[in-house]
Parts: sequence; C-alpha cells; structure tokens
Amino acid sequence: MKINCCPKCGSTIEVSILCQYSRNHFIGKRGKMLNKYKRRDEGSIDAALAFCTNEACDVQWEDRDFALDENGYFVDLKYTERSRGW
Ligand SMILES: [Zn+2]
Repeated sequence: MKINCCPKCGSTIEVSILCQYSRNHFIGKRGKMLNKYKRRDEGSIDAALAFCTNEACDVQWEDRDFALDENGYFVDLKYTERSRGW
C-alpha cells in the first residue's frame, strides 16, 4: 500500500536509486592511456533501495520490496502487504 513515512516509527523514507557512470579515457598517440576522460552516464541499473532515515530503526526495503507508481508514490510491498509485523 502507499505510505508516506516509515510504517514502524513514522520517520521519513529515503529512496536510493543506484546509477552507474563510466569514465571514458582515450589512448594517446604514444599508446598510453590519457588522464583526460569523458564521463558517461550509463543510467539506472534498475536497482533501488529504500530505508528509514531514523538510524535507530531497522526498516529497509530492497529492490523487490517496494515500488514507485507512475505518479511517484512510494508503494510498500513488504511491511504492509506481504507480511504483517516485523
Ligand atoms: Zn523507521
């Protein structure tokens, strides 16, 4: 179900969407890799984590434990649907 805060302690939820970047170096005329590089954004790697911002709280979601719907709402699939209790 859609939630707007931690189901256990009510703190803010933080979502961490994992992305990847590459540093693309060129090989110079002498055959040596140059320090100069272009950074390329390879985009999302389709992995995300979410966790409660309260450090004393152990609530966290892995990739399959939550969803973000088309309007950006956080949908909990772990605590409020699949199983009850912690
Ligand atoms: Zn919490």
